[in-house]
Amino acid sequence: MFWQVIKLKIILLGAPGSGKGTQAGLLYEKLGIPHISTGEIFRNHIKNNTRLGQKAGEYMKAGQLVPDELTCEMLFERLEEEDCKNGFILDGFPRTINQAEALDRYFKEKGQEIDKVINIIVPDEEVIRRIGARRVCSNCSATYNLDYDKPADELCTVCRSPLIQRKDDSPEIVKARLVTYHEMTEPLIKYYKKSGKFVAVDGILGKWNVNKVIMRILG
Ligand code: ADP
Ligand code: ZN
Repeated sequence: MFWQVIKLKIILLGAPGSGKGTQAGLLYEKLGIPHISTGEIFRNHIKNNTRLGQKAGEYMKAGQLVPDELTCEMLFERLEEEDCKNGFILDGFPRTINQAEALDRYFKEKGQEIDKVINIIVPDEEVIRRIGARRVCSNCSATYNLDYDKPADELCTVCRSPLIQRKDDSPEIVKARLVTYHEMTEPLIKYYKKSGKFVAVDGILGKWNVNKVIMRILG
């Protein structure tokens, strides 16, 4: 049980490896607002070998974005689920201006709007370093970093399964993802600055400090 029900609709922006997933996880623990990661939903589809997974996987392994139409359809379906009634944290969506406009239309139809857009700023060199050290559980989706939270026996501390590197975390694909980010996603900063809901956070501070700053922003 959480102490109070906080209805917030939050978008986390930032490069791959900027800590969006980590921060969304912490916000979920503290506020009970569901964490919606489009990347994670795609990875589940891939794991279950669905048609969507097969399509999305082609783009993901090349460091490219999954087409807007597929992504939006999947995301809007997820937002209709019961647990999103009290708000949500979007991690990895929107990633293009098209997606942002579609999201605006989606909310407009419902007479709702986003509460805050939080951009986590991390330089490219740090992204490359972090993703190089990132490992994920081969069974559940727990994430670890070999530089600062490597489990002693290199097994997942949640379910004891071996850790692996995500396929798209290899150095060549990370470079492609960064190019995609600067080209397709970074323009969203300007887009959301106009909305008056935009806040930027220095993502280099370490996860607990970044979390403190975000909690302060959310009041
Ligand atoms: P990261 O934040 O580390 O880049 P994600 O798990 O958010 O990782 O995303 C992994 C991949 O999933 C992306 O590189 C992209 O191919 C695909 N993806 C995730 N979200 C979107 C989106 N909103 N639009 C298009 N593709 C997406
Ligand atoms: Zn695990």
